[in-house]
Amino acid sequence: MNKAFTHDDWRQRAAGLSFHNQAFIDGAFADAASGKTFECVNPASGQVLTRVAECGSEDVDRAVKAARKAFESGAWRDLPPRERKRIMMRFADLIDEHVEEIALLETLDVGKPIGDSISIDAPGAARCIRWYGEAIDKIYDEIAPTGVDTLGMITREPVGVVACIVPWNFPLLMAAWKIGPALVSGNSVILKPSEKSPLTALRVAALAAEAGIPDGVFNVLPGFGADAGKALARHPDVDCLAFTGSTVTGKQIMKDAADSNLKKVWMELGGKTPNIIFADCPDLDAAARAAAFAIFFNQGEMCTAGSRLLVEESIKEELLERVIKAGESMFPGDPLDPSTRMGAIVDTLQLDRVMGYIEAGKQEGARLRLGGERVLGETGGYFVAPTIFDQVSNRMTIAQEEIFGPVLSTISFRTLEEALEIANASLYGLAAAAWTGNLNKAHKVARGLRAGTVWINCFDEGDMTVPFGGYKQSGNGRDKSLHAIDKYMEVKTTWINLAL
Ligand code: NAD
Repeated sequence: MNKAFTHDDWRQRAAGLSFHNQAFIDGAFADAASGKTFECVNPASGQVLTRVAECGSEDVDRAVKAARKAFESGAWRDLPPRERKRIMMRFADLIDEHVEEIALLETLDVGKPIGDSISIDAPGAARCIRWYGEAIDKIYDEIAPTGVDTLGMITREPVGVVACIVPWNFPLLMAAWKIGPALVSGNSVILKPSEKSPLTALRVAALAAEAGIPDGVFNVLPGFGADAGKALARHPDVDCLAFTGSTVTGKQIMKDAADSNLKKVWMELGGKTPNIIFADCPDLDAAARAAAFAIFFNQGEMCTAGSRLLVEESIKEELLERVIKAGESMFPGDPLDPSTRMGAIVDTLQLDRVMGYIEAGKQEGARLRLGGERVLGETGGYFVAPTIFDQVSNRMTIAQEEIFGPVLSTISFRTLEEALEIANASLYGLAAAAWTGNLNKAHKVARGLRAGTVWINCFDEGDMTVPFGGYKQSGNGRDKSLHAIDKYMEVKTTWINLAL
């Protein structure tokens, strides 16, 4: 993070910031066809930052036509991979060159601490775009092991027009995980950011154009899920839809895709991550700090949030005291203060949802050990204290439903088998973690957990080299790594008779 920037520096920069607030279609910024706009609110103050174009089906249609035209023209698809690479690398460099502005936009838009957006979100998005740029001219197609009279070629081709619909918790990073592999493989892309977080997507649209991505190849449509999102899901000329968001919305999108043109759909959905601490954990302090970070980082607005802390009974109290201490040190503050570790909840809807779950936890008999209330109300912002429940049963609402807020449920267990049973008793299977000093136990647990990612003696680690995605109702397909490219490409077999 840029150490030179103080709280005051960020506040001053924020006051002088301007916003891109029109849609980006066919290489140009434009109002929504309806002329409608919606409010973009700073969750740390409750104040309106700007108004943004509210796209609907007419705008979706225009963007899809532009994307299709660009795809068919070959202006991007048919470039040699090393050329697409050059442009993607420039795109990544431009994001890096504007890293402070982008981090600030993200923080103002969703309330996350500036220390996180400048060290994780903005540079992470650049790193992702660069990683796919670097990869694309190193991927080879295949020749099948056929007889001598035949040539069996297995080649990959871009799928066409790709819609990417993303959530608000890591607005630009989640977008990058999709537009990186989708663009680099030659597709035309339409990105719909969440209505709660449109600002960085619109900013990088201008940077993509500046980098040399041809008109129509990258479009950004701000708007609501029920309008712009649904119109993309139902559009007959969208070939593929990559979605990150809630499981409920994911199911609806699959229905809309099926009812329209059976576009390919890829789903990165919710989670209810179990974080299992065994009594033979090699470092209880490290595990306690990680357990607090796992649920309070990004205000708990994490698909991978370690929202279920499973602790072996013999060490429960000892561990919990340390987690509570670590949680207290993450009390929320002004997101523009570089020392803030937890910021504001994204909006009043989400705030009410989180407070509703805290109430449900109390009603169902869980014991509140930390927080449990809205704080810093005088700021006009939407802040919730780090909240820890103890004596939670895995059947309680707070242990089953995704809260997407800073609320931890502590559940105790006695044996490895019981820990696995509780961990897997969930609709979700996005991620899981286990802490043990016993290698055999670590492998046994890792194999037994039904989750797309398992962390051993750490939490929320990973980089672009490893795939990310869920089992069960946490989704299908994988973001990140070379696996993600497969989602945006068709595989073609060309069988050539060499005997004639
Ligand atoms: P959401 O499902 O409400 O919205 C996500 C996106 O879908 C938004 O852009 C929204 O406008 C759009 N949308 C809503 N209804 C739609 C519809 N009917 N048709 C098409 N688009 C529609 O989710 P959210 O509240 O923005 O994000 C939180 C969710 O995202 C959580 O469940 C979280 O776990 C999940 N998430 C998952 C991952 C992952 O990689 N698995 C990563 C981040 C977030």
